[in-house]
Amino acid sequence: MYRMILSLLLALLLLPQLVLAAPANSNKALSSTPAVQIPVFKSERALAKVQGLSKLEITNVRYALHKDAVTGEVTLRMVIDATGPIKGTAVLNDLPVPRLEVAVGGASLGKLGSQQKLDGKIASQVKLMQVNGSSKLVIDLENMIDETDYRIFALPRDIKADKPYRLVVDIKQPAPPIVYNFTAGLKGKVIALDPGHGGSDPGAIGPGGSQEKTVTLAVAKRLQTLLEKAGAKVVMTRQGDRDVYGASATAVDELKARTTVAAKNKADVFISLHADAFTKPEVGGTSTFYYRKSMYDGLLAKNIQTNIIEAGKLSDRRVNSANFYVVKRSVMPAALVEMAFITNPDEEKLLNSPQFQQKMAQGIYQGLDNFFVEASRNGGGR
Ligand SMILES: [Zn+2]
Repeated sequence: MYRMILSLLLALLLLPQLVLAAPANSNKALSSTPAVQIPVFKSERALAKVQGLSKLEITNVRYALHKDAVTGEVTLRMVIDATGPIKGTAVLNDLPVPRLEVAVGGASLGKLGSQQKLDGKIASQVKLMQVNGSSKLVIDLENMIDETDYRIFALPRDIKADKPYRLVVDIKQPAPPIVYNFTAGLKGKVIALDPGHGGSDPGAIGPGGSQEKTVTLAVAKRLQTLLEKAGAKVVMTRQGDRDVYGASATAVDELKARTTVAAKNKADVFISLHADAFTKPEVGGTSTFYYRKSMYDGLLAKNIQTNIIEAGKLSDRRVNSANFYVVKRSVMPAALVEMAFITNPDEEKLLNSPQFQQKMAQGIYQGLDNFFVEASRNGGGR
């Protein structure tokens, strides 16, 4: 008798895993109903006792697409079922592909598989990983989303509705991807150059007294000359040592004025030039920042960083995603270059030298040229 009950309970416990394995791995597109049945755990604690499972365990991961009848907005809802109350945190990652990573502390994956294909409208797949008794769900997104495009919350067990403890991740469908029909070559391109800071704002100041606003303008002017020689039209946010909006402007108004110059002139790309700063004088190197508004932002940043490292030979602090105002709010692909650290005495000297300034200009110029070649190959892409 006891053995019979035991095997029955065991079958019940394994059921959700069996159900999960079949439809979730098939290529069938999902309708708006969950692909996986909600497992019924009327007595998880009793089952856990029988199985000797005292630990918190994820028993199922299900998902469904919901379309708002009024707004038409589509949301992907992932529901993580567990044997007890669970908590989760989520972080967005843009490299190597757009991802939302959900960490579920203290809950093991149990017998769940490691990967599920999703329908690709918002996310293409989710990988389940277990690290030291905690679980992680890596959701590959079709397009990068914003911090405001997802939410994560826990739901208690609902005995009446036969629902277990849950963690819910809602992901809003991002705006449709922007497609540019870029062609190769710099001729005829409109390039917006933004020498960082200026006028009332010196930017960072080096140990030798150099001001960031001076070196960014010097490199921008050299870059302008190179680009114009190649037949590009260059739009400078400032030509001299001045504020773009005005000395009394708020920081945001000043930055907005810079992206407005680029937008008004219908620039193809926007490049903001800066010098980095840090409290430790030994820190140095070059980095390039972007914000993914389309696939072209990262492509632009990557090409600039590669070529500016090649030209300037400083330590490679790589391409990074950041929501800096000018790269986020510019309506075209944009990159912000931190050429070197003005707080590093050696790099401060370099930033002031015409040779190094020319190398920086040459590197960015080459990066732009390469970018348009690569972007033209992706003309119809995402
Ligand atoms: Zn700066």
